[in-house]
Amino acid sequence: SATTDYIGRFAPSPTGPLHMGSLVAAMASYLDAKAHQGTWLLRIEDLDFDRNVAGADQQILQSLQRCGMQWDGEVVWQSQRQDLYEAALRQLGDYVYPCACSRKEIADSRLRLGDTASQIYPGTCRHGIAPGKTARAWRLRVPEPELGIICFEDRLCGSQSQNLATEVGDFVLKRADGFWAYQLAVVVDDAAQGINQIVRGADLIDSTARQIYLQGLLGLPTPSYLHVAVVTNANGEKLSKQTGALAFDRGDNDLLHEALLPAARFLGLQLSPASNLHEFWQQAAMLWAKKLHIA
Ligand code: GLU
Repeated sequence: SATTDYIGRFAPSPTGPLHMGSLVAAMASYLDAKAHQGTWLLRIEDLDFDRNVAGADQQILQSLQRCGMQWDGEVVWQSQRQDLYEAALRQLGDYVYPCACSRKEIADSRLRLGDTASQIYPGTCRHGIAPGKTARAWRLRVPEPELGIICFEDRLCGSQSQNLATEVGDFVLKRADGFWAYQLAVVVDDAAQGINQIVRGADLIDSTARQIYLQGLLGLPTPSYLHVAVVTNANGEKLSKQTGALAFDRGDNDLLHEALLPAARFLGLQLSPASNLHEFWQQAAMLWAKKLHIA
């Protein structure tokens, strides 16, 4: 159990069973917590009710347990914490504004501005919704370009910086379908759970500046970040349910050899053959500590 104040987490979305890509993210955060003698929490990010798959959360818990990855404390489900997100949205006051734009209107206005490449919101509703239109989503104002640069030091990837004004734009905190956006919920929950170390896939490194900006506005501490490479398939696509990634846990297969050792190898850990899960995790945590220079 934990002997330091390190608090990390794994935060899967229950859109399907864990695949090798999510196992790598889970393993990295678990190993980092173990290497620091810290706490490892589990949070189910089930706010996208259109993408949730019934039973996937329980499947995920079961697979983690079969892998020998026991979380600390109670599992948290984001769907039960929506009051916290509402309170945060209110706390943001005038930084948040209602937006009436549909996807099509945003695309059309980009076309008019001759900006078809970027994904940046053109700011149509920044100073109010046009008469006769109704609010759909809620957006967060990002700073002007001169003040928009957010920097952070990733423990693995090194110095990162992103200009929120020119690379992101005013982003959505509450979606038109009424669902809370990942960016707001993740910031609120990481802080509420006291998480001070975030280890996750590099597909989320691009979200980190947004999250640091939100932490600042909400008066919340910024955790440390470490992003690990994501697993891709033969076509170079990130493994995901959409790209047809398979569950690594088939209930009775040999997870040590079929899932854990390959995931550890992907993370660059050169393990000698382990005969059981206990040995595997001990060795893997030691190698992780060495790789990351954790004393
Ligand atoms: N729920 C997110 C996902 O499954 C991860 C969130 C995070 O680690 O910040 O992609």
